[in-house]
Amino acid sequence: MSVQTKQVDFGKRSGLRVCPVSMGAMRFPAEELAIPLIRQAIDAGMIYIDTSRGYGNSETILAKALKDGYREKVILSTKWCPWNIKVQPDDDTSAQCAYKRLLESMERLDVDYLDFYQIWSINNFEQYQQATCKGGMLDGIRRAKDEGLIGHIGFTTHDTPDNIRRYIDQADWCEAILFSHNVLNPTYKEIIARTHEKGIATLVMNPLAGGFLAEESPVLQRVVSDALGIDDVVQAAHRYLAGDDNIDTILCGINKPSDITSTIDNYSKPPLTAQQRKDLEEAMAEISSKGLGFCSGCKYCMPCPEGIDIPAMMNIVYLERLLHMSDRAGATYRRLVKADNSPARCTQCGQCEQKCTQHLKIIEELAYLLKKFS
Ligand code: SF4
Ligand code: SF4
Repeated sequence: MSVQTKQVDFGKRSGLRVCPVSMGAMRFPAEELAIPLIRQAIDAGMIYIDTSRGYGNSETILAKALKDGYREKVILSTKWCPWNIKVQPDDDTSAQCAYKRLLESMERLDVDYLDFYQIWSINNFEQYQQATCKGGMLDGIRRAKDEGLIGHIGFTTHDTPDNIRRYIDQADWCEAILFSHNVLNPTYKEIIARTHEKGIATLVMNPLAGGFLAEESPVLQRVVSDALGIDDVVQAAHRYLAGDDNIDTILCGINKPSDITSTIDNYSKPPLTAQQRKDLEEAMAEISSKGLGFCSGCKYCMPCPEGIDIPAMMNIVYLERLLHMSDRAGATYRRLVKADNSPARCTQCGQCEQKCTQHLKIIEELAYLLKKFS
C-alpha cells in the first residue's frame, strides 16, 4: 500500500502538521465500502479530513469510520454556511445559527472536539462582511473555540485574489484557507503564496479541474508531452501542485482504493521544477485560452429547477469543444437526454449563472449543446 512518509507544517499559525495528500470527504461510496476505505486512507497518511454539513451523509459515515481509535489519528474539519445550504428555511449568518449548526455537526460526527471549523465559501466581499461582522457567524464559531469545542478556524473561497488579499491582511483569526486550484486554472497561485507567507495553512481542492484533467484526451496528452516528455496528464497535474512549496496539502476525493494509492504514488514522484511548472502552465494556457472558463464540478449551481444536471452538461461542452472528443461527448449527451435531462428544458431563469463560482455562461453553453447534438 502507498503510504505518505513526509509531513509539512499546516501553516505556522495552526502548529499542526499534515501530509501532502489529504482527504476530501464530499462523496463516498456506500457506507459498507466507505468505512474501510476511509480507514485505508488514514492509514496511508491522509490525516486531514475535509467534510461539510452539506455533503449528504458524509459526516455520519465519518462518525462510524472514525471509531476504533481512528478519530485520534486525524485532523477533522467540517464547515457550513447558509448561502450554500439551509438546514432550516430561516437559517442566517448570525452567531447563534452558526453555533447551532456547529454543534449539530459535532453530533453528526459523534465527536466532542473538532480540530477545524471552516466558514464555507466566502465568495464576495458582502459574504465576508456578513460572516465576520459583530454578531455574525465568526462570533458563533469563536464562542465554540472559547468553550474548547474546536481548535482552529478557517474559510473556503472562490473569491477574487484581490478580495482574498484584503481578507487575509485583516483576518488574524484565520488559520487555513481552501482554494480551488490546478494547472489549468492557476489563478490563485500568487494569493496562495501570500497566504502561506502569512502563516495561514493552504489547502487545494479540485486538483484535476473537476475531472477534466483525468480525461483520456489526445489534446491533453500532446500538451503534457510537449511540455514534459510524458503522457500521463494526471501525474503531471499532481506533480505540478507538489512542486509548489506554498501549498501545504491537496484534497483527494476517495471512491475506491486506487484513488488513494494512485494519488499518493504521484506525490511520491519528483515534483516538477519551477521551470517545468512554468512550461506546463504555458502549454495548458493553450487550452484555457479558448475562453470557456472551467467548471470545477462544485455544484453550487444546483439544483436546477428544471432538473438539468448542469455540471454534467458543462463537462460535455469541454469534451467536445476543448478536447475534441466528439464521440464521447455525443454519447454522454444522449445518455443524459434519455434520462430526461435535456438542455431543452432550460427556461433561462438564470439562477445557475448567479450562483456559479466560475461565472460560466451556462445558458449559452446549454444552447450550444442543444444545437450541436439534437
Ligand atoms: S438557467 Fe436553465 S439550467 Fe440554469 S437553473 Fe435556470 S433552467 Fe436550470
Ligand atoms: S457550472 Fe459553475 S457552479 Fe456549477 S458545478 Fe460548474 S463551476 Fe460549479
